[in-house]
Amino acid sequence: MQKKTVRDLSDAELRGRRALVRVDFNVPLDAAGHVGDDTRIRAALPTLQSLVARGAKVVLLSHLGRPKAAPEPKYSLEPVAQRLAELMPGTHVEFCETTDTDDAVQASERLAPGAVLVLENTRFLPGEETNDERLARELAKLGDLYVNDAFGAAHRAHASTEGVAHLLHPAVAGLLMEKELAYLGAALANPQRPFIAILGGAKISGKLDVIAQLLPKVDRLLIGGAMANTFFRAMGLETGKSLVEPDRVDLARELSNTAGDRLELPVDAVVAPELKAGVATQVVARDAIPADQAMFDVGPETVRRFGDAVRSARTVLWNGPMGVFETPPFDAGTFGVARALADATRAGATTIVGGGDSAAAIAEAGLESAVTHVSTGGGASLEFLEGKTLPGVAALDDA
Ligand code: ADP
Ligand code: MG
Repeated sequence: MQKKTVRDLSDAELRGRRALVRVDFNVPLDAAGHVGDDTRIRAALPTLQSLVARGAKVVLLSHLGRPKAAPEPKYSLEPVAQRLAELMPGTHVEFCETTDTDDAVQASERLAPGAVLVLENTRFLPGEETNDERLARELAKLGDLYVNDAFGAAHRAHASTEGVAHLLHPAVAGLLMEKELAYLGAALANPQRPFIAILGGAKISGKLDVIAQLLPKVDRLLIGGAMANTFFRAMGLETGKSLVEPDRVDLARELSNTAGDRLELPVDAVVAPELKAGVATQVVARDAIPADQAMFDVGPETVRRFGDAVRSARTVLWNGPMGVFETPPFDAGTFGVARALADATRAGATTIVGGGDSAAAIAEAGLESAVTHVSTGGGASLEFLEGKTLPGVAALDDA
């Protein structure tokens, strides 16, 4: 799916014209209401800086949190606009608090070339999440052209991500969107081999379609996290108090049979009687999980094997933590795999991390910039890996 990008726009198409840019500024706010983690804001800077440098009047749309189609002060984008202003020194960045689109249109027209206007939360607007065509028509008045750089929201057909793209042309992808699609797309379409995927996380049910998509494409599929428990159960192993999805056991058995030895499960586990920081733990073989304990992480021998596999790969795709990394010491498996990804990257492999919790884990490991690409879109990257069409991308102009 080749889409036009901001790089296909001529300077004449941009200078002095209003570029309506949908960004994903859905960032966490701290207790004081300030931006907690500005990763997503920084991820949009290449697109914004390029538009500013080329003299466009940049009008930004984003959602934040889950307000219910009405203004809610705690979900205001004002602190986000402040953070953006700090990240773009020398650029005029202003915030417009109105939810009246006519007022917002006037503000957009008053902008000087090279200035940035941050509009209020799109989810304050009735019709955003229902992709109401009337709202999309109103939003289309806010720009002379449309840019979608909100990869993290591209799996939602909302008025600001999908509806407006049909009504305002050119409608092109931003640089972040382009980069996300390029990395994830190349991994699926023509990966350098060996191509290894590592899946983990809490539930197999949310990732069945990803497994089904990836299995025919990968050379090896490594499975950790709580997902592994459901496979253990399918093998007839004792899983104790571990998180298992009983209604997926048959499916896990089928997947194992189809995949054969391309599918690799943990060989050992870190178990404990309860999930608590600093609790006494034990490393056991996977066939020796005590009935009164639960598996909260993969064991060291598994980390060694998964790590060796990762280091031998040319392309690595990782989605889902290997254990409950939020609660040390159950972070060792996840961080061990993260380090293996960093090693592989240094050796020339392309390494891609998708999924919100996996992205948080790699950041916590301090290895965000030691891998090739960390996707900014949790749900969107998952849907992309499932082979689904992302409506926010499909609506853009073809290249
Ligand atoms: P992502 O957001 O990267 O796609 P998921 O949302 O699928 O990842 O899963 C992340 C969650 O899985 C984490 O909160 C982690 O604590 C949990 N998890 C991982 N391993 C286990 C385990 N063995 N038991 C219980 N929960 C686990
Ligand atoms: Mg998650």
